[in-house]
Amino acid sequence: MTFELDSRVRKNIRGMMKYASARDEFSGKAKIYLDANENSYGSPAGGTLNRYPDPLQRELRKKIAEEKAIAQEEQIFLGNGSDEAIDLLMRVFGEPRIDSIMIMPPTYGMYKVCADINDLAILQVPLRPDYSLNTELILETAAGKKPKLIFICSPNNPSANLMDADSIRRILIESNTIVVVDEAYIDFADAESWTKEMSAYPNLVILQTFSKAWGMAAVRLGMAFAAPEIVALMNKIKYPYNISEVTAKTVISALRQSRKKENMVRQIKSERSKLIATIADLPFVKEVFPSAANFFLVRFADAAAVYRYLREKGLIVRDRSGQMHCRECLRITVGTPDENRFLCETLEAFGKEKAL
Ligand SMILES: *Cc1c(COP(=O)(O)O)cnc(C)c1O
Repeated sequence: MTFELDSRVRKNIRGMMKYASARDEFSGKAKIYLDANENSYGSPAGGTLNRYPDPLQRELRKKIAEEKAIAQEEQIFLGNGSDEAIDLLMRVFGEPRIDSIMIMPPTYGMYKVCADINDLAILQVPLRPDYSLNTELILETAAGKKPKLIFICSPNNPSANLMDADSIRRILIESNTIVVVDEAYIDFADAESWTKEMSAYPNLVILQTFSKAWGMAAVRLGMAFAAPEIVALMNKIKYPYNISEVTAKTVISALRQSRKKENMVRQIKSERSKLIATIADLPFVKEVFPSAANFFLVRFADAAAVYRYLREKGLIVRDRSGQMHCRECLRITVGTPDENRFLCETLEAFGKEKAL
């Protein structure tokens, strides 16, 4: 597949020189570093925190490439959460007030927030009521309006379903647009990541994160996998030291214990099946939508009443009733066995109290 990239990049980004840090100009080994105005005496926090980290996170990217079987480290961008990758993609390709991006509501809220910040128009092609992609309308709209980026969230937040692979493949091949597949929840799905097919699609960007399956939301590390040319553009405009040394070290140590992550994922998936089965049987539940994520969407007879009741008992879920196709829906994250038991007991108590 051929895909011309240069002409899609904003002219100012194409033409600019990136910031050259001290560590860019000299990245070899030396005895003494007096080039970056660091504090050579150390820091109260100890370690090597007095030194600027590697702007290109080479060691961490190498470890991530191994973990995720990515062919080249040059295909990996690391950001301060996936949100940084979303924002940078818009800033590389989207000319403010001129260009647009495409999203399929109901979906993750940050695509719209980043587009609003970057003054990009938002083309909305709603998912069907069963939360599947409306592929024909997506292709038709892309051909007519020529968005710079198409965002597909799979598994989707808040509906928790995986998007059809053939539909995504058609959009990749026929849209002639950069397609961003957000795989924040891919570890919980019984499906392969699109990273396996990356080499076939020069217009494919895949987002993943350490915030969900890896249990490291506080660390803030997001990944984008794409052709080296796209990654290079993102690296060109990112803040020079966007990933801290603390983050890099913490994640490298977590990667050595990927079995722990796999065990947690296995447990969450098993808890998910049990929870969904229990909740689907409650008389005031209309529908529990199938989930390929660590959360699921439930349609209640009266979502606001359930939300209020749970909150009174100290249990917070996400009210998604206001989103497209999500009337009377709450989004519930799968918790620990104890948390899930409390959730089910509280829902059963709601049913009895309200005599439904
Ligand atoms: C949680 C989530 C993310 C993760 O964002 P981070 O900034 O990496 O924490 C990305 N995409 C979707 C759809 C999410 O739900």
